[in-house]
Amino acid sequence: EHLAGHLSTCLKGLDEALFGGIPFGVLTELVGPAGIGKTQFCLKLSFLAALPPSYGGLAGRVIYIDVEYKFSSRRMIEIGMRSFPDVFQKKDMAKEMAGRILVLRPASLSEFTESLHKIKVSLLEQEIKLVIIDSMAALITGEYEQGAPKQHSLGWHISFIKSIAEFARIPIVVTNQVRSRNRNEVSHYSFQGLSCSEIQECSSGYDSHLVAALGVHWAHSVTIRLVLEAKSGQRFIKLAKSPMSPPLAFPFSITSSGISL
Ligand code: ATP
Ligand code: MG
Repeated sequence: EHLAGHLSTCLKGLDEALFGGIPFGVLTELVGPAGIGKTQFCLKLSFLAALPPSYGGLAGRVIYIDVEYKFSSRRMIEIGMRSFPDVFQKKDMAKEMAGRILVLRPASLSEFTESLHKIKVSLLEQEIKLVIIDSMAALITGEYEQGAPKQHSLGWHISFIKSIAEFARIPIVVTNQVRSRNRNEVSHYSFQGLSCSEIQECSSGYDSHLVAALGVHWAHSVTIRLVLEAKSGQRFIKLAKSPMSPPLAFPFSITSSGISL
């Protein structure tokens, strides 16, 4: 895989572990329980991708697939203003930055890949520098869990999303929610003939619910997996899968200026 560039997260330790940030051309997944900060992270990345290069950004446009109506342009600008006050000295900058984020709310994965298919060629002209899917599990739930007729298999859609990242040489960042771990809960579960322990091994950071929704194919399709979790009141971001770094964990907090280490 060609990792021709990175989107800096502005989180120093994490950027160093990733040799510059979120890599272009591949899928990066943010996994964690409700409220841990996945969307907050995505808002920050969106701002950073739209930011002028003189501040470390990519001066690009962003496609934000907002499946659960959690995108907030106002919150993104707040994060930006608190992190880069200088940028906003220029008149109408908040409007300009917000205007760089194209928010889409497709009803299904098919609808999403269809629209991605249509704009595939213009991704380069339009200077799209980041695609965010918040969240992938929510996007597939409608058509795959309810057994609606599907034109393509989930594997086809996953391969298509991957090919977009490669073709446009941009990072695609995807969130997925997991249920917070309850140690007293014993689940007897098997998925497509794999036992529970095999599932855990091949999809570290997941719970069986997510494996059931996305399938094992998904777990192997992401190049970087960041697991967000909380232990004794402290949030951590864990580099759970990376071709170039050992597993590392960084404590982080969420303030008015967004995610910070
Ligand atoms: P879900 O899976 O439900 O979408 P998530 O992982 O996307 O959850 P976020 O919405 O990113 O979670 O994070 C929500 C948390 O972010 C809040 O619980 C709060 O702690 C923190 N947060 C949000 N806005 C602010 C703010 N302005 N100042 C400080 N913390 C904030
Ligand atoms: Mg969210």
